[in-house]
Amino acid sequence: MSFSVTVKNELAHLKTEKECCRKAELVGFLRMGGNISIGGKGKISVSMETENAAAARKMFTTVREVFGLKAEILMYKKRKLRKNQIFIVRIPSQTGIEGLLKLLGLLGSDIWGVGIEETDLNQVITGSCCTRSYLRGVFLGGGSINNPEGNYHLEITTADERHCDLIVALLEQYDIAAKTMARKNSYIVYLKESDQIVEFLNVIGAHHSLLEFENTRVMKDMRNRVNRLVNCETANLNKLINASMRQAEDIRLIDEKIGIEKLPLSLREIARIRLAYPDSSYKELGDMMSPPLGKSGVNHRIRRLSEIAEELRGK
Ligand SMILES: [Zn+2]
Repeated sequence: MSFSVTVKNELAHLKTEKECCRKAELVGFLRMGGNISIGGKGKISVSMETENAAAARKMFTTVREVFGLKAEILMYKKRKLRKNQIFIVRIPSQTGIEGLLKLLGLLGSDIWGVGIEETDLNQVITGSCCTRSYLRGVFLGGGSINNPEGNYHLEITTADERHCDLIVALLEQYDIAAKTMARKNSYIVYLKESDQIVEFLNVIGAHHSLLEFENTRVMKDMRNRVNRLVNCETANLNKLINASMRQAEDIRLIDEKIGIEKLPLSLREIARIRLAYPDSSYKELGDMMSPPLGKSGVNHRIRRLSEIAEELRGK
């Protein structure tokens, strides 16, 4: 199951208690791509498609219980693509539908030109509780979110530029700074920062999904940190090994050209130990000497050896 489906299923099963919020949620949902059809005598019906069965059922129930309107759920299969099932929530033309149409911004003097601007937003969103529900409906109707294992990305697609602006403004109330872009015939509100996505999930009440998102994020961060540490350690180790190999070469050269025996005692001792313990650090080498020698003492003597080797190479 994709993470989008997980989030939507959670939201669809969330009990939205207050009537004001249930209205706001339904309006948010329908505005994400609901269709109106006008039959004979100007009879208007509304329908909205969704791939999420639970979301369709929730909206269907709200239409019946909160608006007291008749509704139906139709279903068809998309043949070509991934054979997804599509659910249609349909609200047929009926007495009393005007109230809903008004909230949708579909009742004005000129039915074709009207949109959200004509709607009194206060009628839909009567309090901060409703803002959350409205955004939940919006996400159920036109949102998607990547699996947190991959790139962090949440987006909401709407066909209406003004609705796009409204969503951004509502998100701003929660300090969520969404970005927008136009794509073909639609407008996209999107979030790419994990903190903002977490906040959005919190606002719309997807708390289980939020925990899942956070767990994955923590694991991912930890894995990245471990990888960085390992890479860093490996780099240090490589440096150490390279240095040790170079030193061994120097010592062998000296032995070949003049013989280690000819070196002063202090250098002779360190040369032997270095060859015998190529993996040891300066500190460890120093401890093996008698009397023990500090790190800087070891460093000094090894440098002296490499100077001698350089001189020999120069000849
Ligand atoms: Zn409310």
